[in-house]
Amino acid sequence: MFKNFIASPEILKALHEAGYKAPTPIQAQAIPEILKGSDLRASAQTGTGKTAAFILPILERLLIPSSLQGVGPRVLILVPTRELAMQVAHEAAKYSKYLARVKTVCIYGGAPYPPQNRDLSRHHEILVATPGRLMDHMQQGRINFSRLEVLILDEADRMLDMGFIDAVEEIAEATPASRQTLLFSATMKGSVLNLSKRLLKNPIEISIAAEHAKHEFIEQRLHHVDNIDHKYRLLDHLINDETLTQAIVFTSTKHQASELADKLSRDGIDSAVLHGGLRQSQRTRTIMQMRKGGVRILVATDVAARGIDVPTISHVINFDLPNNAEDYVHRIGRTGRAGSNGVAFSFAASRDFDIVRQIERFTGQKIEVLSIPGFEAHQKTTSSPGKKPFFNEKQGRSFSQRSKKPSSFSKPKPSSELGEKKFSPRKNTVGKKPFAPFHLKNKPFKQKNKPYN
Ligand code: AMP
Repeated sequence: MFKNFIASPEILKALHEAGYKAPTPIQAQAIPEILKGSDLRASAQTGTGKTAAFILPILERLLIPSSLQGVGPRVLILVPTRELAMQVAHEAAKYSKYLARVKTVCIYGGAPYPPQNRDLSRHHEILVATPGRLMDHMQQGRINFSRLEVLILDEADRMLDMGFIDAVEEIAEATPASRQTLLFSATMKGSVLNLSKRLLKNPIEISIAAEHAKHEFIEQRLHHVDNIDHKYRLLDHLINDETLTQAIVFTSTKHQASELADKLSRDGIDSAVLHGGLRQSQRTRTIMQMRKGGVRILVATDVAARGIDVPTISHVINFDLPNNAEDYVHRIGRTGRAGSNGVAFSFAASRDFDIVRQIERFTGQKIEVLSIPGFEAHQKTTSSPGKKPFFNEKQGRSFSQRSKKPSSFSKPKPSSELGEKKFSPRKNTVGKKPFAPFHLKNKPFKQKNKPYN
C-alpha cells in the first residue's frame, strides 16, 4: 500500500488517478530509504517502476519548504537522453499535479535555448536535465545549485556509455556536499560502480535487476532469417497480426530506420521513424502521435527509443539485433509495460550467433526459436555451441569472414531438431484479413525453457 510510505493525500490522489494499486518491488524497497535521507545505489531496469521509486519520496520531501531563498532547484535528476528527460519530467508532473508549489523544469540538448533560459530563471523545485545541455547552462551562469538537496543519476550506465562521465562528475562537484545522492543503473559494475563510490556516501544497496531482466510478461521469440528480403517478408507477416496494436521495430542505423519507415508508409502502414538525426521537435511530435495511437509502427534506433513509455506498445521487433545484451533488454522493455503482456521478436541471421548467446547469458533465459510455415529460413542461428550456423545472405560475406569465431561447426539441423515452435500455415497476406499466431492476449507468458545457470 502506498499509504504505508506516502503521507501526502495530494500525492496519493494522483497515484490513485494513475491507477497504481500497490508499489512495485523497487518502490517498496527504495521509497522508505530515500525518505530516511540515505544515499542509494539501485540496480533496476526500465519497466520496474524505478522513476516513481525516486520521484515519490522526493515529492514528499519537497512538501517541507526550503529554508533557503532563491530560484534554483532543490532536486536535480540527470538522465542520458532527451526522451528519458521528457519521460521523467512527465512522471514528475503526473505525481505532483495536486502539489501547486512543486514546479518541474526539463532541459535537454537539440532544443532552442530561450524557453529553457526562461524556465530556469523562474522558481522551480525539480530540474530534469541531460548532462551536456546542463553544462552549457552552467557555463552561462544560469544555474544556481545553492538550494540543491538531492542529486539523482538515472540510467547511469547509459550516461557513461554516452561519454558523459566528465560532465556528470563536474555537475556533481558543483552541487553542495551535503546533498543526498541516488544512483539508478541497469548494471552496477565497472565505471558505474566506481562513479557511485566517488559520489555516494554509505549508500543503501538495492538490486532487483536480475529478476526483472527476465521480463516475465514479455514473450520472447527468435526467427532465423536468410537475408534482408526474408526480414521484409517476415515483418510484413507480423505486422498483419491482429494482436499487434502498436510496435517498435528496431534497426541498427538511422539510414535503415528511415528506409524501412518509408517502405512501410509506401505499403500503406501507419508508420513513423525515430532516430538521433531528427530534430527534437520532430521526435517529440512522433512520440506524442504514438501515445495518441496515430502511429502503429515506429521504426527506431536504440538511442531514440530509450525511455519511450507507451503502454499500448504490444510488440517489439528487432529487425536488426542490437550490439549488446543490455540494449536488447532495454529494447524489449518498451513492451509489456506496467504489468501488461508484450511480445518481442528478434530476426537473427547466422552472423548474429554471438549476440544471441550473449543475450541469453545476460538474461538467463533461452529465447525460443519460432518457425512460421512458409517463412522458414534455410539456415539457422542456433545458440548451441558446436553447431555452425551457415551464412547465405544475398550480397553477404561468409560467416567466417564476418565473425572471428572458429569455423568448426556442423550444418544446421532441421527445425524440429532445434526445438522450434511451429504454427499453422498461413499465406503472406498483405492487406488481407490478419491472422493471429500468438494467443497472448490477457495471458501472461510462461517461460518454457530452463534458464541458463
Ligand atoms: P519505469 O520503470 O519508471 O520506466 O516505469 C514503468 C511503467 O510503470 C511506467 O508506465 C509507470 O507509469 C508505471 N508504474 C510505475 N509504478 C507503478 C505502480 N506502482 N503500479 C502500476 N504502474 C506503475
